[in-house]
Amino acid sequence: MQTLFHTLGLKSEIMKAIEALGFEEPSPIQKQAIPALMSGADIVAQAPTGTGKTAAFAIPIMELIDPAKRVVQALVLAPTRELAVQVAEASHSIGRNCRVNVLPVYGGQAYEHQLRGLRAGAHLVVGTPGRVMDHIRRGTLQLDTVRIVVLDEADEMLDMGFIDDIQLILDQTPKGRQMALFSATIPPRIQTLARRYMNNPQTISLAHEAKEVPLTHQVYYETQPRGKRDALTNILDMQEPHSAIIFCRTRSEAADLASTLQARGYGADAIHGDMSQAQRERVLGKFRANKVSLLVATDVAARGLDIPDVTHVINYDIPDDADAYVHRIGRTGRMGRKGEAITLVTPRELRLLRLIEKDIHKKLKPLQLPTQEDVAARRTKAFMESLRETLRAGAGQPYGLVAAELAEEFSAMQIAAGAIQLAFEATGGPVLPTGPVSDGRITQADTTRLVLDAGRRRGVRPGDIVKSIAGDAGIPGSDIGNIDVQAEATFIDVRNSVASKILELAAVVTLRDGDANLSLARQKSTDSPTGQQPKPKSAGKPRPRDNERGRPARFAGPKGKR
Ligand code: ADP
Ligand code: MG
Repeated sequence: MQTLFHTLGLKSEIMKAIEALGFEEPSPIQKQAIPALMSGADIVAQAPTGTGKTAAFAIPIMELIDPAKRVVQALVLAPTRELAVQVAEASHSIGRNCRVNVLPVYGGQAYEHQLRGLRAGAHLVVGTPGRVMDHIRRGTLQLDTVRIVVLDEADEMLDMGFIDDIQLILDQTPKGRQMALFSATIPPRIQTLARRYMNNPQTISLAHEAKEVPLTHQVYYETQPRGKRDALTNILDMQEPHSAIIFCRTRSEAADLASTLQARGYGADAIHGDMSQAQRERVLGKFRANKVSLLVATDVAARGLDIPDVTHVINYDIPDDADAYVHRIGRTGRMGRKGEAITLVTPRELRLLRLIEKDIHKKLKPLQLPTQEDVAARRTKAFMESLRETLRAGAGQPYGLVAAELAEEFSAMQIAAGAIQLAFEATGGPVLPTGPVSDGRITQADTTRLVLDAGRRRGVRPGDIVKSIAGDAGIPGSDIGNIDVQAEATFIDVRNSVASKILELAAVVTLRDGDANLSLARQKSTDSPTGQQPKPKSAGKPRPRDNERGRPARFAGPKGKR
């Protein structure tokens, strides 16, 4: 694997370890901190969580340590036992080929084990201030051979009241030693500490740079937790992303969501922490080659790997904070290209969304979730567009002969409609309500107006009405014309010839909150004070409806990919 770490001039042992970790390029903080520390400077580095600070100091430490000298040469202080262990493990991986001994030292573990490690000649000690102080008091740890001290998460250590221990520890280290301080924030107390113990420190700050994502279009959709999967597939059907990363909070959620998407016919793969490096690389290879267009990932999995630029980042689960948000959506819209960042938000997560917006100084645009009707309409439009292109270019001669032969039996309109139906069915496109096609459209004169005693307030949607009436009365959807949903009532124009059949067989429409009744409308609208007919919103065309298999109707069009 080619990495961009070679510009830093590291030992080959360290380069190999970095390759094995799958790091391809130094993170911004690493780009600045590694050369500074290797030049011998003291640094105060400010960068948000998850920006690779550990390697930013662990790499220079490994460069500095002389494994032949079996004394403590580097000391890292971290606020908690977990962090100390984490930093020790990360340092160990980076120094794995350098024959450097790394020893974590923290409270809650027996002294005996730590003493053995110290006696065996630990080169790098990573510890919590309290336990390090204990070892100094007992005389089991000498710091006079230390060449570099790092305070990791310095602000947190001060918040936890470790200032006295830290000062006592620093007093034990030699004068000329190097020092680095890493912190998410730099409050005045840290500046005081830096002035007192550091030698003309360089300041490195990334907090600002990391939060700029100018070219990406950022939107959010509010959805109920239970509706998230359908919301996602409708969004995918509307947008048909060329390549998208879909972020989930947990490994199991990522794995589940990827299987659901596969089951619903999308090209999707999961990438998460339960997979080996080799498995991840395989999935990533397929994604890079665009053999799958959707990669379902956890933050951790996505972070450790080099993921190519994508057209869409979808936060299926909202990230925990602004840094994670910026990190995720930074995967798209790179190098001057436009990207889409979509976040699903449940009502309970709206507060978190507001916090993120405040932090990134940007409001996300709220959008209405697309319905299945929107999806079908969009696909129908895409189909019509490509059909128009074909017609303009002139359909091939042999097809014309087929059409001519059929024309002896059917009208041109019937032939075209039949061909379109076959094309839709063949591509799994939106299946529209079926029934024989006549040459005529429904016109006002052909129709009878019915009224349903329920409207917008009770959640009436035109698609549901078509489904219910057409289904119950056994008539084609094409016999139903304009549907006008008003607040308390819905007006439905149906072909004269089927009106009585509908009133006989489909007079009760079942809505989510109960039944509603259909009757013949007086020719005046009840809602309109002027007594005029409600204005039809669209031409008297039937609405597309869902297909029978209960999954989103889908037509990718000739250019779509699955
Ligand atoms: P921080 O201390 O800034 O919160 P960490 O040092 O814990 O961040 O690093 C966060 C994650 O990023 C870790 O999983 C680490 O392995 C990974 N990482 C660090 N540097 C790189 C890099 N150059 N390329 C890819 N991943 C990296
Ligand atoms: Mg850290």
